[in-house]
Formats: sequence, C-alpha cells, structure tokens
Amino acid sequence: MLSAGFHLLNYQITQLLSSSVPESSMSKFAEPMSRLIDELKKLPGVGAKSAQRLAFYILRSSDEDAEALAAAVRDVKANLRLCSVCNNITDVDPCVYCTSATRNQRLVCVVEEPTNIAAIEKTKHFNGVFHVLHGAISPLHGIGPEQLRISNLITRVDAGNVDEVIVATNPTVEGEATATYLSQQLKRVGVKVTRIAMGIPVGSDIEYTDEITMLKAMEGRRDM
Ligand code: ZN
Repeated sequence: MLSAGFHLLNYQITQLLSSSVPESSMSKFAEPMSRLIDELKKLPGVGAKSAQRLAFYILRSSDEDAEALAAAVRDVKANLRLCSVCNNITDVDPCVYCTSATRNQRLVCVVEEPTNIAAIEKTKHFNGVFHVLHGAISPLHGIGPEQLRISNLITRVDAGNVDEVIVATNPTVEGEATATYLSQQLKRVGVKVTRIAMGIPVGSDIEYTDEITMLKAMEGRRDM
C-alpha cells in the first residue's frame, strides 16, 4: 500500500513536470508552490513551464541555497538605489564611477539603461563617467523627455564640471530622438556634444549591409 502510494506520488510529479500538462492543472499545486510559480512567471522570459521547473528546483535544493536566493532578492531591493549624480544602480551614493579619482569626471557618456554601462566598460578604452537616462523618448509609448532622468545631467553640465558629453543611446528611432533632444538641450548650455558612430559590425561584409546602416557608416567616416 505504501509502495503504491509512493509510485502514485512519483507519477504525479512526472505528470506535473511534463509538457503535456495543461495550464489549469497549476491549481493542483499546494498553495506555497503555486504562489512561487506565479511569482517566477512574472520574470521576463519565464513562461509557465520554466516557472514550474524553477519552482521544483528550488523545492529540491538545500535550505541554505533556497535561503541564499531569498536573501539575495531581498538585498537587491533593500540595498540598491540610484546614484544621485549619474542615476546608475549602486549600493553606495555617489557610485564607484562618480567617486573614482582615476576616471575623467569631465567626460560623460550618456546611455539609456544601467546595463549599457557594462557594454562600454567591456571595451576597456573608455575612462570617463556615465549618465543613465532610464529609457528613451518614445511618443508612441507616451514617454517624453520629462519621464527620463535628464535634469541632473543638465545640472552637471551647468555646474561647469563637464567638457564633453558622448551620447551613446541606441541606434533606434527612440534612441535617435533622444540623442537629438539631448544635443539641442546641451548645446544651449555650450558643452561639446558627440554621438557614437553607427555602422558596419566588425568582421561582416559590406555586401550584406542594409542601406540605412551603410548610410550611417558613410556619414560616420573619419580621416585616416
Ligand atoms: Zn554615479
């Protein structure tokens, strides 16, 4: 009888993990389990099946691992904030970039999102500091300049602490609109404003380059 019960439990778990399980069977989970699955489903790129797999993985992991995950989630909300100077996500305010004595504090690179900083840092050739807008101008989505974190960039420039602003927003309609707006605002203050070059990816063939990218590459040419 005990053995039959064990096999039934195993069968149920296999069924719950299998791809043929309809969405409605979610309600058959114990309440804490469905709650965890529901929370995991809110994460970007995590569907119902992935959420179930993750939830079962957490259930089977050690108490220490599960607690470490919960603590990391709590800490990220409790201890991280935006840098008051550049809006980067940081645990100390001002952030490590804004207080660095070895970085050029007069050269500011403007990006849309905090994650863009890592892409620029990977080059190991930029020694300036950053400014994070947390988005881009998008009239279609009702995002205007006032929804972005632009005012403290103007404050930095106004205070005479900046020689050059490099606009590194994305080469999209929204990124270009943001770049144009920023250049108008900043040139009024009288600071040098530059835009990162757009063009053909390294290692690719110009034969397969679309006309807009080719045009951008031609416009962004430099002296040799
Ligand atoms: Zn900062």
